Amino acid sequence: MKNAKHAKCVKCGKIYEATPDLTNCSCGGILEIVYDYDYIKTILNKDILAARTDRSMWRYRELLPIEETTENTPLRVGWSPLYEEPRLAELLGLGRLWVKDDGQNPTASLKDRASAMAVAKAREAGAQVIACSSTGNAASSLAGNAAAAGLRTYIFVPSRAPKGKVAQLQIFGATVISVQGSYEDTFELSKAAIEKWGWYNRNAAINPYLSEGKKTVTLEIMEQLGWQVPDYIALSVGDGCTIAGAWKGLKDLYAVGLIDRLPRLISVQAEGCCPLNRAIAANEPWRPMEENTLADSIAVGVPRNADKALMAIRESNGIVVNVSDEEILAAQRLLGRTCGVFGEPAGVTGTAGVKKLCEQGILGKNDTVVSVVTGNGLKDVANAIKAAGEPISIPGTMDALLAAFAEKGIVVE
Ligand SMILES: *Cc1c(COP(=O)(O)O)cnc(C)c1O
Ligand SMILES: [Zn+2]
Repeated sequence: MKNAKHAKCVKCGKIYEATPDLTNCSCGGILEIVYDYDYIKTILNKDILAARTDRSMWRYRELLPIEETTENTPLRVGWSPLYEEPRLAELLGLGRLWVKDDGQNPTASLKDRASAMAVAKAREAGAQVIACSSTGNAASSLAGNAAAAGLRTYIFVPSRAPKGKVAQLQIFGATVISVQGSYEDTFELSKAAIEKWGWYNRNAAINPYLSEGKKTVTLEIMEQLGWQVPDYIALSVGDGCTIAGAWKGLKDLYAVGLIDRLPRLISVQAEGCCPLNRAIAANEPWRPMEENTLADSIAVGVPRNADKALMAIRESNGIVVNVSDEEILAAQRLLGRTCGVFGEPAGVTGTAGVKKLCEQGILGKNDTVVSVVTGNGLKDVANAIKAAGEPISIPGTMDALLAAFAEKGIVVE
């Protein structure tokens, strides 16, 4: 790799050669990939990108830690739509609002960006088998992207994982281990199994390449906005890899001169599980919390990427906000009704946070915001029905229809 120099521990600063099977530093710290921005400036600019026909995350190869000879992974990951939402902006009282629908990735979540990177690096490492533990989406995205590339997967999920995600795993042919315990228990078992059998490790935060894949979400947002930087980018936060990756992408763009300022991050967590936001708000070290929210993808009591996530929020002068499960379900309905975007609970949590900040008067008419929807609502149908209720159920007759409309007060114009 000519564009990437090495990996560096965010805790102790130790430098590692950027081999494809990197994991944590010997001090336990998380590694970060360091680029040669002067070199990248000579091979990448706005015109080169504008002329590029690749509509996937791999259009940003110059900013990604892969060998020039490494093939693009087979599924189309990335280049999800960024919709401007003037009606929702008006409703919330915001200046301008865009929604990035990352539920439109091949396995229907932003995690595809990290998993495609894991598959590319596993191929570089010559691995045939990849393993991970996950609240659900990292798992299904790994299983799908690996299946397309002809690699096998061992996947550990907590038994609470929604059926839609487990169904994806089964269909993609993963060997699935449903662990009767928390995400923390699941993670620890996967770690032990990976050590025992030497599988390629796609565990969040352990593998420093994953957040490099995730950063493509902000590379895209900025290109889709014509390099006009919004004031804020809102994201839901669990392990912290997504928000850390998003920030890395923005800093990369700034370093190579593609953007001229940096937005502020909005970190949104669930009230029942917000160890990172609590640490920021109280300005104290993070402590574990219970995993008490229906937004399963961000029910992470022991965040794996706390250091990088906290750094990203602080460096960006970010805002933290926690939302209740009720507020998450309300945001799910609101996005569906005003934007036609269907997100899973954790997928819409960022938007729930934006709504709350508007109601609190922290965001308003002078602000421009991008809200990332990180996963598709079909993954967790049970909670969607909880949010929106059951349909009108009647026998198939006009009389029954008229009676039901009368009962519900529905007046057809
Ligand atoms: C994983 C996930 C998140 C949070 O990402 P982290 O890297 O764990 O912070 C948010 N939304 C969805 C849908 C996810 O799958
Ligand atoms: Zn270290």
